[in-house]
Amino acid sequence: MGLLSQGSPLSWEETQRHADHVRRHGILQFLHIYHAVKDRHKDVLKWGDEVEYMLVSFDHEKKKAQLVLSGEELLETLQEKGERTNPNHPTLWRPEYGSYMIEGTPGQPYGGTMSEFNTVEDNMRKRRKEATSLLGENQALCTITSFPSSSICCRLGCPGFTLPEFKPNPVEGGASKSLFFPDEAINKHPRFSTLTRNIRHRRGEKVVINVPIFKDKNTPAPFIETFPEDEEATKASKPDHIYMDAMGFGMGNCCLQVTFQACSISEARYLYDQLATICPIVMALSAASPFYRGYVSDIDCRWGVISASVDDRTREERGLEPLKNNHYRISKSRYDSIDSYLSECGEKYNDIDLTKDKEIYEQLLQEGLDHLLAQHAHLFIRDPLTLFEEKIHLDDANESDHFENIQSTNWQTMRFKPPPPNSDIGWRVEFRPMEVQLTDFENSAYVVFVVLLTRVILSYKLDFLIPLSKVDENMKVAQKRDAVLQELFYFRKDICKGGNAVVDGCGKAAGRAEPAAEEYALMTIDTIINGKEGVFPGLIPVLNSYLESMEVDVDTRCSILNYLKLIKKRASGELMTVAKWMREFIAKHPDYKQDSVITDQMNYSLLLKCNQIANESCECPELLGPAFRKVRYSGSKTDSSA
Ligand code: GLU
Ligand code: MG
Repeated sequence: MGLLSQGSPLSWEETQRHADHVRRHGILQFLHIYHAVKDRHKDVLKWGDEVEYMLVSFDHEKKKAQLVLSGEELLETLQEKGERTNPNHPTLWRPEYGSYMIEGTPGQPYGGTMSEFNTVEDNMRKRRKEATSLLGENQALCTITSFPSSSICCRLGCPGFTLPEFKPNPVEGGASKSLFFPDEAINKHPRFSTLTRNIRHRRGEKVVINVPIFKDKNTPAPFIETFPEDEEATKASKPDHIYMDAMGFGMGNCCLQVTFQACSISEARYLYDQLATICPIVMALSAASPFYRGYVSDIDCRWGVISASVDDRTREERGLEPLKNNHYRISKSRYDSIDSYLSECGEKYNDIDLTKDKEIYEQLLQEGLDHLLAQHAHLFIRDPLTLFEEKIHLDDANESDHFENIQSTNWQTMRFKPPPPNSDIGWRVEFRPMEVQLTDFENSAYVVFVVLLTRVILSYKLDFLIPLSKVDENMKVAQKRDAVLQELFYFRKDICKGGNAVVDGCGKAAGRAEPAAEEYALMTIDTIINGKEGVFPGLIPVLNSYLESMEVDVDTRCSILNYLKLIKKRASGELMTVAKWMREFIAKHPDYKQDSVITDQMNYSLLLKCNQIANESCECPELLGPAFRKVRYSGSKTDSSA
């Protein structure tokens, strides 16, 4: 999650004193980049995925699974043996928020040819194998989005969910002051604890995360947790909700991301907008996080949890008190869905109130940016959260740390990424909403689906745009329990309307009228993904017809069809999402008392099973389809009925 500077982090007061400096120079740094590369064309399509992992240790005697706090050492060894020894090493490793986390990407980006789709899964397997080979006995690299149990008894002060065990330290001086999440579980690089501390300082109180509890037969009604001797928690926690109070409960979750290099800035802006509408749909399809702090929740996705876990807005900014010390009311956390479309086609669908810094906006207009790009600088209403003493005075023409400082702490569904200064990297966009899946097969399937979709969007000049406020409504709905089958989502009815003029200046060329309510309708995810006669063609059928028109070797085609089949079946309900499967696993567990509580033993059996599935030592037809291993490994990968 962003740039790691070496050096000494400044205190919150000092960082805040430099906030305007960082913003001003961040914008200047962006302008240097913009003027240098705005007309760059013909970059080739490249892309790459990011998978985040948790390190889990199994105690088979005590039947306990814990998070191993060795991410930093593991990362050091992986980098030493990998990229530092061989620049062409097939994997790259990066730190993540949790001390029990690491992040892996392919060593080189993938290119534009179809056969690359057939290498994604192999590369993910390599990553899993490489990192696993360095783990201790009874330890595993798990791709789970949120760790189910943070040992409920933690709040009584008994250490629990980490190895080694640490007590949370809710006193002055700690980074998060959490009642449940020990600071030792935060990555040791100073960036992460500083972020944690400064978010809390800026906000003026601890972060507050309240996730609705799943009401089972024996769940107390109302469900109320008490926090004697902790006034802040008593005030902040809501009845019928699971209360959490630390950045780690959000940023300590894992996800699956994809970054694309577009051939030009206008193509990047177009892809940014189009994919923004897809975020809630694919998030619901990838739902994998039903459990928090040892309880069964009523949501399936991590999104709102992370959003709240880094919400640094003050009470004034959140609208709870009249503005006095702050400049703006701000309607969203720094981690949330995007607030404005960037392409000209998006303009008329920009129906969310944007809070922007007028001076920066005017400055960018004067520098020749168009209105839509200039207002993207609304990201710069945020303060820098960390600043390193050695990195205050920079060469704006050749460095971009101040720009990146603000940019990389706006964690939105999509990220628009200018090239780094003096590099041959092009304009990129990042797709960020997906939850990580248990297996490399599933993760490859979601990645390939999204990348293929970008090909189809570009080749067929598709148009998915709807008013951005409707995309926001979709984001809310997408997180609900079993949203993939139970909820309806706004989606554009005629996706081929853009015609040829979509990429450059479509709005005028296509002479569109104001957005009409008839342009979109509420649909099920099944309809959006698989289509429905007379209603909507469906994304998979569109991808299939694209595939038919492409020259693809037999093996790659089989792999792609298998991936699309997984997506198709998850959308129709024939296969379960990870979240649903986990819920059923817990519901059927002999220890489960239908009271929404996940005990250490249940946590252990669930993670053990997840690990077996990931290592393909057991089948899981509900999740992956029947005879999954047979289809994939007996050489009969010929089932092409996707
Ligand atoms: N782990 C975060 C998530 O689940 C993303 C962090 C990052 O931006 O890399 O969304
Ligand atoms: Mg990451």
